[in-house]
Amino acid sequence: MMMDDRDPSTLLDLAIQSLLSNEPVAIHSLGEIPRELFVPLFSAAFMGGYRKTLIAMVKVWPFTCLHIGTLSVQEPQRELLKAMVENFQFLPVHNSTSRSPKLRILDVRQGVDCRTTCPEFGIRSPTCFHSCTHSVQSIMKLESQCSLADPNPESQSSRQPMELLVDLSLDGTLRQREFFALLLNKVEQSSGSLHLCCRELQIDKFSYARNILKFLDLTCIHNLAVDQASLSEVTNLMAHMIYLDSLSLSKITCTSLHGKVFRMFLNYLGQMNCLKELNLSSFSLTDHLVSLLRALPPNLDFLYLPFCEISYRDLKCLSQSPQATHLKLLNLSNNPMYWDDCGPFQILLQKLSDTLQHLAINHCHLTDAVLSAILPALTKCSHLRVISFVSNPITMPMLMRIVHYFTPLMELKYVIYPIPVHCYEQWHIHGSLDRQKLADVQAQLKAMLQAAKRSDMKWITYSQ
Ligand SMILES: [Zn+2]
Ligand SMILES: [Zn+2]
Repeated sequence: MMMDDRDPSTLLDLAIQSLLSNEPVAIHSLGEIPRELFVPLFSAAFMGGYRKTLIAMVKVWPFTCLHIGTLSVQEPQRELLKAMVENFQFLPVHNSTSRSPKLRILDVRQGVDCRTTCPEFGIRSPTCFHSCTHSVQSIMKLESQCSLADPNPESQSSRQPMELLVDLSLDGTLRQREFFALLLNKVEQSSGSLHLCCRELQIDKFSYARNILKFLDLTCIHNLAVDQASLSEVTNLMAHMIYLDSLSLSKITCTSLHGKVFRMFLNYLGQMNCLKELNLSSFSLTDHLVSLLRALPPNLDFLYLPFCEISYRDLKCLSQSPQATHLKLLNLSNNPMYWDDCGPFQILLQKLSDTLQHLAINHCHLTDAVLSAILPALTKCSHLRVISFVSNPITMPMLMRIVHYFTPLMELKYVIYPIPVHCYEQWHIHGSLDRQKLADVQAQLKAMLQAAKRSDMKWITYSQ
């Protein structure tokens, strides 16, 4: 007898595609199809750009939450996101549809690793892992107030609290301005029942962002990235953001590291107990890293300090700091390290040996002497997965030694290495690179990795 070896998910896909091929039928069927079909139908309608079906689905969505999650958002889907926001209805809805809508949390953030809807358990609402926990306008806080004031929420005739979850990039472009106008319009229509919850905020144009920020509850923000602003503008924001997971500041101007603004910055930083990631790029910190480190929470995972003009004293402080004992990522790229004493660097690597997974020390003027001094400590970092040390003036014999040192590191998968000095007529002057010599280096590395049975480890370099 022939077994039906077709994958059941393929059958489901076929059923969904045939449903979507006739949108009026698909929309009509929403009142009857099992609840479980909503999730695969939603994904297919979203990916295929079935706008009318999607709008109808948002209106009768039978779960508390709807997340875009990891669905790919290209140009056509951007329009769909807008349509979803426009058609997000304020509950309760009094209409004659056979299915009463339940959607209270619409999450249009992109690339968040979560399901389309959260599994339901118990009777508590909202049963969504991503609902807001910090804002006084959150469903959670409003409902706990309600149940205190009135033990029977059924008797409430007013609108139910709802949430719209977004990530915002404030760059002042037309697209971004239009999207924000749409969000704001929605919030205004809700007469206070809809909480606009921004989790990730990227500010590229402060002058433009200023007008928008007053409409956001800054306590909701988990990730903040600011490019090109003054430190006082940043500290004004930080005053309201104690729940940050990640703070990324690039090209921030600060007139003095001895002044009040820098002290305030450190003070706010010290209140961010959840901070896991700090990225300060192009922030001149010379001889002041110690005060920054003191302000950081002890459980920081990721520390990026590229172009920060780190001094020998700073590196020494870093190596002695309790904040730097369990970093998973350390980026010290583009800080020239001319000094002869490698002690602090060695100590730092020793302290990080149990946790460090990613090290970036590109363009630090590291010579053969420095590398041979730190290599033993570096190879104790057994969880290292990625190391990047391009644009450092090292020789071919040193590079070969490094291969030998790295091959026992079984978790190490990516080595982004510098082109050895002999490949240049004049070191690191682009036009003087000898391509043949570089090809020989690459062939030699490949042979060494094969001989060591470490072809799983990728050795990559950049010749611009
Ligand atoms: Zn959810
Ligand atoms: Zn919120």
